[in-house]
Amino acid sequence: MTKEMDEPIKTVVCRNCNAAIDEETFVTHLKVCDSCGHHHYLTAHERLELLIDAGSFEEHDADLYSIDSLEFPEYPQKLARDIAKTGLRSEMLSGIANIGGHPTAIAIGDVRFIGGTCGSVIGEKVTRCIERALENRVPLVLVSVSGGMRMQEGTLALMQMAKTAAACAAYAKEGVFYISVVTDPTFGGATASYTSLGDVIIAEPGARIGFAGPLAVASLREELPEDFQKAESLLAHGFIDAIVHRAEMRRMLMELLEFAR
Ligand SMILES: [Zn+2]
Repeated sequence: MTKEMDEPIKTVVCRNCNAAIDEETFVTHLKVCDSCGHHHYLTAHERLELLIDAGSFEEHDADLYSIDSLEFPEYPQKLARDIAKTGLRSEMLSGIANIGGHPTAIAIGDVRFIGGTCGSVIGEKVTRCIERALENRVPLVLVSVSGGMRMQEGTLALMQMAKTAAACAAYAKEGVFYISVVTDPTFGGATASYTSLGDVIIAEPGARIGFAGPLAVASLREELPEDFQKAESLLAHGFIDAIVHRAEMRRMLMELLEFAR
């Protein structure tokens, strides 16, 4: 028996349909379920690799990190845990990269960091990314994932909505091009600010996008539509412009960047 045959085949269970998928196939298929098409979470680095020209990423603001300014219970421990787990110092990776040869300012959220919530660092990183795009007159691609604004940073987190929205407004005024890519889940202040301010807003299939989460909304209404806060429903109601499969996202960005050149 060879060494390979001795090794058990690792499987991943789909979060949506419970199908067992062997890990190699899961990774090869970009963490999209073969049976139901559910798009599972990607890390910021995995998504970066998927979208940009290989080797073209220059990271900026890597040294920004959150502090526990409100002395919120257990927040420093949670930050330390997620820094160790993700290898990131904050919930977002940002910099400049080429996409199909087009230099682009890009920022990508990582859902593994304090539940993908937006703290003050995400606001600062998004704002600096927008300002960098403006300074260099290059297009902007922001990939959102967010569990809402971070309660451990209170008002400091909430303020990031106004700050990023103001930066988006300044950017739009200059007529530079912003593509907002929305991934599952994107909620709260991100949806209510920079995520919704793109010239083009693209979501992955099935992505849950909203302001208040479905449990909070369900407490106010008896019944919610089946596709409530799903990308497909938001497309039908004009909130987003397109739904694009993960495997096609890079090609779509390249076409849009070429169009806007
Ligand atoms: Zn599935």
